[in-house]
Amino acid sequence: MSLKEYLSDPLLNTLYRQIRQAGPVRSISVDLTHKCNLRCKGCYYFEEEMDSYRAEEEETFDAFLDSEAQRGTNFMTIVGGEPTLVMHRIKKIYDRFKCSVATNGLRRIPYEGFENLPIGVAIWGDRETDAALRAPDEKKDLFSRALKNYRDDERAFFYYTVAPGTAHQIERVVEECIQNGNNVLFNYYSDLAGLGGVYDYRKGFDKVRREIDRMIERYPDRILINKYFNRVISTGRLYDMQWGYEVCTNLSVNYEPNAERLKNGFPYNPHFRAYFADFQTVRRCCTGIHRDCDSCFDTWEHFSWIMIHLRKHLGSKQEFTNWLTTMYLFYLINRLVDYREGMKLLPEIQGR
Ligand code: SF4
Ligand code: SF4
Repeated sequence: MSLKEYLSDPLLNTLYRQIRQAGPVRSISVDLTHKCNLRCKGCYYFEEEMDSYRAEEEETFDAFLDSEAQRGTNFMTIVGGEPTLVMHRIKKIYDRFKCSVATNGLRRIPYEGFENLPIGVAIWGDRETDAALRAPDEKKDLFSRALKNYRDDERAFFYYTVAPGTAHQIERVVEECIQNGNNVLFNYYSDLAGLGGVYDYRKGFDKVRREIDRMIERYPDRILINKYFNRVISTGRLYDMQWGYEVCTNLSVNYEPNAERLKNGFPYNPHFRAYFADFQTVRRCCTGIHRDCDSCFDTWEHFSWIMIHLRKHLGSKQEFTNWLTTMYLFYLINRLVDYREGMKLLPEIQGR
C-alpha cells in the first residue's frame, strides 16, 4: 500500500494533516541556567560538570535569542540546571518561540504569562525512591511538593524516570499523578552515578516496558507514549539499527567532533544545537559531552530517531501507524498541534 492509501484512514488522515499544518520543527536545546536547587544522583548535567559554562550577563542571553531567531529556530527545549530559578528567561523564550520546559517541580511556573507552556515535571520513582535519588541528604518529599504545585494544571505532565528494578512502583506512581489531574510521560534511568543494583540500566527494561504497556492499556487517555515508542526506547532497536552515537539524530551540527558522524549516511537534524548556559558553547548532544551512549535512553532523542525514519515505516499500514502516532505524540506533548483537540484523540491513538 502507498502513503496515499494509508491516509484514507480518517484518524491517520487527521493526525497527518495536523502535523503538516504545524510545519517542520527546527529545534535546539538550551541550558537556561547553570544553577540548580537539587543534586540528583545520576543527573547528566552535573555528572559531566556542565555547570562550568556560565553567563551572568543578561545581554548575552538576549543576544543568543536574537541570533537563534535569525537562524530560523522555532522550538527550544529548555533544560538546565533548574529553569525555574530564572523564570524571566523562560518568559523571554515563551514569548518568542515554541518551547517546552523540564523542571524538578519545586517552584511552580505561574499560569499567567505561561498559559500554553508544556511543563515536564520530573519524578524518579515513588516517594521513597524519588527522595533517595533526588534529595539524598534531606530526604525531602519532593514528589508531594510537585503534585501540589501542579494539581489539576493541564500544562503539566509528570516526566517519570524509571529504573530497571523499580517497575513495581509504576502503577501507584502513575495513579497518583493521574489522580492529581496530570498526564504521564516516561523516561528510563541511565545510572550515570554508577549506583548499580536496581538502578543498573544494563539489567534491561523488560519489566518496565511491560508495566508501561499495562498503564497505556489502563489509562489510554493519560499516558503520552505509545507501545511502539516504549518498545523502541527500551530495546534500542529500530528496524536494522541499534541505538547509539552512529545513528543518533540530535547532535550539535556545529560541534567539530561530530563531523565524522554527520558524514556516515544516517540522517540527523540539520538545525540542532545543544547550548550550555553560557549561551555560546555547544556540546556533543543534549545529554552528554563524553558519556557512553550505551547509557542513553533519553525520551526526546528517541522520539527524534523514530520521526526522522518515515521511509522505513512505509512497508505496511501498521508500521506507518506506529510512525505517525509517535510523531503526533511528540507534537501533542509539545503543543505544536491543538492540545485539547489532540488529547481527545489520545485513546483512539493508543488503540492502534
Ligand atoms: S533537578 Fe534536574 S538539573 Fe537539578 S540536579 Fe536534578 S536532574 Fe540535575
Ligand atoms: S548520549 Fe547523546 S550522542 Fe549519545 S546517543 Fe544519547 S543523545 Fe546521542
